[in-house]
Amino acid sequence: MAEKSFKYIILGGGVSAGYAAKEFASQGVKPGELAVISKEAVAPYERPALSKGYLFPEGAARLPGFHCCVGSGGEKLLPESYKQKGNQLFLSDCISPVSMSCLIHLVPLVVIPSMLHFSAKVIVIVELNRATFPLFFVFAGIELILSTEIVKADLAAKSLVSAAGDVFKYETLIIATGSTVNTVLRLTDFGVKGADSKNILYLREIDDADKVVEAIQAKKGGKAVVVGGGYIGLELSAALRINNFDVTMVFPEPWCMPRLFTADIAAFYETYYTNKGVKIIKGTVASGFTAHPNGEVNEVQLKDGRSLEADIVIVGVGAKPLTALFKGQVEEDKGGIKTDAFFKTSVPDVYAVGDVATFPLKMYGDMRRVEHVDHSRKSAEQAVKAIKAAEGGGAVEEYDYLPFFYSRSFDLSWQFYGDNVGDSVLFGDSNPSNPKPRFGAYWVQDGKVVGAFMEGGSGDENKALAKVAKARPAAESLDDLTKQGISFAAKI
Ligand code: FAD
Ligand code: NDP
Repeated sequence: MAEKSFKYIILGGGVSAGYAAKEFASQGVKPGELAVISKEAVAPYERPALSKGYLFPEGAARLPGFHCCVGSGGEKLLPESYKQKGNQLFLSDCISPVSMSCLIHLVPLVVIPSMLHFSAKVIVIVELNRATFPLFFVFAGIELILSTEIVKADLAAKSLVSAAGDVFKYETLIIATGSTVNTVLRLTDFGVKGADSKNILYLREIDDADKVVEAIQAKKGGKAVVVGGGYIGLELSAALRINNFDVTMVFPEPWCMPRLFTADIAAFYETYYTNKGVKIIKGTVASGFTAHPNGEVNEVQLKDGRSLEADIVIVGVGAKPLTALFKGQVEEDKGGIKTDAFFKTSVPDVYAVGDVATFPLKMYGDMRRVEHVDHSRKSAEQAVKAIKAAEGGGAVEEYDYLPFFYSRSFDLSWQFYGDNVGDSVLFGDSNPSNPKPRFGAYWVQDGKVVGAFMEGGSGDENKALAKVAKARPAAESLDDLTKQGISFAAKI
C-alpha cells in the first residue's frame, strides 16, 4: 500500500475541484504540491451538461468538450493539463491552447539553457508570462488521482485512506465531495417493491449519464416515467421528450419545483411541458414497480392506485451532501459542513466548498448550503484565495455571495438571483403558447425587492436581475413592479 504526501489535497473531482485546481494554479503551485483525488474516472467536468447537452439525440456534448472550466468561459483543463510532464510541458501544453502570444513568449523560453532546473524555468515563465499566459505554468505538477474513492478520513492525523488502502497525507485539505443521489430517498431504501429493477435510473455522475444514454438508445421511442418534479425531473423529462419518448412526470407536490417556483411560474412550465407532450401527474408518488422476466422495469405503481407503463424510469427526488466521511470530526450545520466566510471548517487546515459547505450568506445574515454550480465555482476560488493569502500573511475579503440558479430545457432558459421570500409578482408575457415566452417575477420582502427571476431574458436583462437582487431597492407597490417589469431592474 502506497503512502503519498502533499501540501494540498482537494478531495473530490467535480466542479469545485476543477475550479479550486485552476485557482491554485493561477496563484502558483509547485510541482507535486497539489493532488486532486476523485472516485470518478475522468478529470473534473461541468456537471450541468449531464442533464442537458449530454442527452441530446444529435450533436450530444461529450468529454473532453465540457471539462472544467469551460462553463464559466475559462480554459478547458484536459486530464493531461494537470500532469507534470517535465520539459515537454513547455511545448505540448503551450501549443494546445494556441495563441500567437504564447508562441512569441515560447521562443525565448526554449533557449533558456538546458542546465536550468525545471522548477527554475517554471519560475522564470511565471514571472515573464503571468499576465499573458497564466495556464502555461499552472498545470505543471498537479497530481490527478482518478478512480480512487476515499473511504476513511482522519482529520486529526491529516490523512485519507482509499478503498485500495493507499494513504494520502496532507497539510491542507479541501473537502469537495459534493452531493449524491439522496440515499434516504432512494426507492430501494424505502423498501419500494421492484425498485431494483433494471432501467430505474438516477443521475449524478457521468457513469449514471452513460446509463441513461444507453437506456435511451435501447428503448428508442419508448415510455418513460420521471419521478420527481425538481431540477432533474424537469430537465430529464424534456431530454427524454426530445428523444421522442412518451414521458410522464410524477411528483407529490401541488406544482413543480415548489421550493423556487410560485404557483404562477410553475403553471407556465407545466403548460409548456404539456404542450410539448409531457404528461404530468401531481400529488402522488411511486409506490412500487413491476418488471419483465428479464428484470427490466415495465410498470410503475402509484400510491393513488394508478399504474403507468414504463421502459425507463428516472428518479430525481433530491440530493444529499457527502459528509459521512467526516462525521463527528468536524462541526456541521443544516446538513452540511459548517464553514466561515473563507470556507474554513472547525478543524484547522480543513476547508469545505461547493455542495457540502454550510457557509455564512452575508447578504441575508444566515447560514446556507447551496447545491448549484455558480456557488461551487466561486466557493472553490474563495477557499484557495484565502489559503494562499494566509500563507503570505494576508487575508481576502469575506465571501459575499448572491445566490444564482438557472436551468435550461426544450427552448426555455431561466435565471434566478437572490432570495425567493415574501410576496411575489409576475411580469411580462407568460403565455406558454407564445413561440418566444418572456416573463419574470420579483419577490418583495419588507418593501424591498429581494429576488428576481426571468424566463427568456437577454444577457443584459439577466445582468439587471442580478443587480436588482443585490441592491434590494425599495418597491413602490407590487402593481407598480408588474407594470414596470424588467425595466424596474434595468434602472438599478
Ligand atoms: P460535485 O460536482 O458533485 O463533485 C463531487 C466530486 O467528489 C465527484 O467527482 C465525486 O465522485 C467525488 N467524491 C465524492 N466522494 C468521494 C470520495 N469519498 N472519494 C473520492 N471522490 C469523491 N447547478 C446549476 O446551477 N445549474 C445546472 O444547470 C445544474 N445542472 C446539474 C445537472 C446535474 C445532472 C447535476 C447532478 C447537478 C447539476 N447542478 C446544476 C448542480 C451542480 O452541478 C452542483 O451544485 C455542483 O456540481 C457541486 O459541485 P461540487 O464540486 O460540490 O460537487
Ligand atoms: P430537487 O431537490 O431539485 O427535487 C427533488 C423533487 O422531488 C422535490 O420537488 C421533492 O419534493 C420531490 N420528491 C421527494 N420525494 C419524492 C418522491 N418519493 N416521489 C416523487 N417526488 C419526490 O432534487 P433533484 O433530484 O431534482 O436534483 C438533485 C440535485 O441536482 C440537486 O442538488 C439539484 O440542485 C441539482 N441539479 C440542479 C440543476 C440546476 O440547477 N439546473 C439541474 C439538475 C440537478 P420536496 O421538495 O417536497 O422534497
